[in-house]
Amino acid sequence: LCAAAETALFLDDSERLGGRRFFRCPVCRIIAVGQDDLPDRATERKRYLQHNNDVDDPDYRAFLARLWDPVRLLLSDGATGLDYGAGPGPALVAMMRQDGFVAEGYDPIFAPQTDLLKRKYGFIVCTETFEHMHRPGDEFSRLDGLIRPGGLLGVMTAFAPELEEFENWYYRRDPTHVAFYSAETMKWIAGRMSWRLELPARDVAIFHKPVEQGHSSLL
Ligand SMILES: [Zn+2]
Repeated sequence: LCAAAETALFLDDSERLGGRRFFRCPVCRIIAVGQDDLPDRATERKRYLQHNNDVDDPDYRAFLARLWDPVRLLLSDGATGLDYGAGPGPALVAMMRQDGFVAEGYDPIFAPQTDLLKRKYGFIVCTETFEHMHRPGDEFSRLDGLIRPGGLLGVMTAFAPELEEFENWYYRRDPTHVAFYSAETMKWIAGRMSWRLELPARDVAIFHKPVEQGHSSLL
């Protein structure tokens, strides 16, 4: 995330079948697997197709609402949004549209419309996406460029527990989950990007991009 020169080994269970080595950065505090353990695109695609992405499933909608509800309350009518990492079934895009917003979904595997990355948005949402990112520092910079001044970025990813719980944490065992964040990592990101951070619910971070001088809010 921060490109620090050195990271510390956090957990090594690579002796076990499917085990990996996890490192924690002393600067941004992200926990990430090593380069050798990053999955290839075929592995990722196969795994993502097993996800539940049905917009009509009430449990899945309730899950997405943990991010969408607090984000929605911050938006003006007519705000335009992007679901970044929408996956194979763009359920959150459907929910955003049902709530009257203009919304699109981008996904590097399932909906790779790069023209969507040439626009600017009042808000961007990422659910269950950041834990898959091989180069999260680059992704945050890219997202910053896609958000209008005064806009916001909503992120939902399971925050990592400390080591005693991390070892048995189901979330870290998914081979496509390669990066794990905490409130302190989110604070580091906000400081680095000059965004204001809000932590409205468990596993949810909302970043507010400041309105630059001389610009009105275009949210
Ligand atoms: Zn770091």
